[in-house]
Amino acid sequence: MTEPGTITVHTLDHGPVSLPEPAWCIGGHEDGGHRADILHTGPDVVLAFHGRHITAAGLVQSPFAGDASPELGGRTPGVSVSVIGRTLDPVAVYELAARLDAYADQLRGLADQLTDVLGGDQ
Ligand SMILES: [Zn+2]
Repeated sequence: MTEPGTITVHTLDHGPVSLPEPAWCIGGHEDGGHRADILHTGPDVVLAFHGRHITAAGLVQSPFAGDASPELGGRTPGVSVSVIGRTLDPVAVYELAARLDAYADQLRGLADQLTDVLGGDQ
């Protein structure tokens, strides 16, 4: 029996592994993988336009991750951003959000320019 707030995942290499389940994790842990591949994931925040998926981001944590690929997530929770294939800390997530704000302004500038090109101001 697993205690409340914990889960047990049956792994190939370490047998049954019990670990705390963060409140933000949506679950879905499947048995039969390696312990290092256990991944907590939060709900995706999706950016889509006219039905096309652009990117998604969400909380992730690999509680048994090794040091091989720290940019792909680790033992410290982070925000995984699919379009850049990286897991970011809070400072980097704020930086990305600021850059996207600036990009939105650039897009509006292009829309203004296109309106002019098409003679919309006549
Ligand atoms: Zn989880």
